[in-house]
Order: sequence, then C-alpha cells, then structure tokens
Amino acid sequence: MRPPYLLLDIDGVLIPFPDEHGSTPATHARHDVVPTGRSADNPVTVWLNPDHGPMLMDVIRTGLVTPVWCTSWRQDATTLIGPLLDLPTLPYVDLPRPQITTSHPNGYLWKRDHVEAWLGDAPTVWIDDDFTTLDHAWAAERNAKGTTTLLIQPDPHLGLQPEHLTEVMTWASQLPTARAA
Ligand SMILES: [Mg+2]
Repeated sequence: MRPPYLLLDIDGVLIPFPDEHGSTPATHARHDVVPTGRSADNPVTVWLNPDHGPMLMDVIRTGLVTPVWCTSWRQDATTLIGPLLDLPTLPYVDLPRPQITTSHPNGYLWKRDHVEAWLGDAPTVWIDDDFTTLDHAWAAERNAKGTTTLLIQPDPHLGLQPEHLTEVMTWASQLPTARAA
C-alpha cells in the first residue's frame, strides 16, 4: 500500500486571514507574488511563516505521507508559494474554477467533489480551514467504509500550528502503510 496523501490548503492554513484589525500573526513575513493570469504590476501580498517550510519538510522526509497541494492557488502553489518556504516541487490537485460566491455552494467545501474523484479510495489526511459539518460527516463515512480519512481544520486566523503536524504524524505512523514501511 502507498502512503496516504497529505492534502494541503494554503489560504487560512499557510496564509492566515487578517484579524478584524487587519493584522496577521507576527510570525509571518510579507511577500508580494504575481499569480498566473495577473500582470506583474498587480501583485498579491501574502504572509508566510518561515518556520512552516522546515516543519513540513520534517513530515515529508519521513515518507509516511505523500504531500499534495489542494488549494485555489492550484499550480501557483508549486511555483510561487512552495519556493518561498523552501519546499520542493510538490504535485497539486488541479481544481476547476467554478463560478461560486461561497466556498460551500452545496453546504460543504467546494473542493470536496473534485478531491473525492481525485482520491478514489486512497487514504488521506486533509488540512483545510474551511470544512463544514457535512465534510466531517463525509470523512466519517469514508472511515466507516475502511478508507482512512482524517480532516484537520486550523483556525484560519492562526493557520497551521505544530500540533496539527504532530497529529498528522501520529495518525500516519499508526496506519498499516507505516507498519509495512
Ligand atoms: Mg482555505
């Protein structure tokens, strides 16, 4: 069996949302990036925690999970965001661009149907700040069917914390894939 996927969101996970005063955690550094399709004179400001790169590398190096970007940054996650954290080139889920005005057009995370099709019955741990109760029910249903699934949901104003990755490692090291490795 292959190691489970580690699906990784960016907005609200690596890039925290500003609080009501418009400030971001002091741990994060400012970068201006130019996403695909934007002109160079119209960059987007992002805030990233330089500690996240080494934290994620510690997880990736164990080989217990297969990291994949799962974000509306799509390929830009690999070409723009990852390099700012000194991460290697990671694959990404090529999410579509639905015309939606909410991230939960059907009461659950808009990415989920695409992720489900992409995953098939592969086990996964998915870190995203935007799950609803329907997504947690979906994960419970997959677990009940024997498809090991863990959702980890950071506070979007704080983003990814060390304990989230500890949870990933604890979970992954208990799977049959880890024991066979
Ligand atoms: Mg998000």
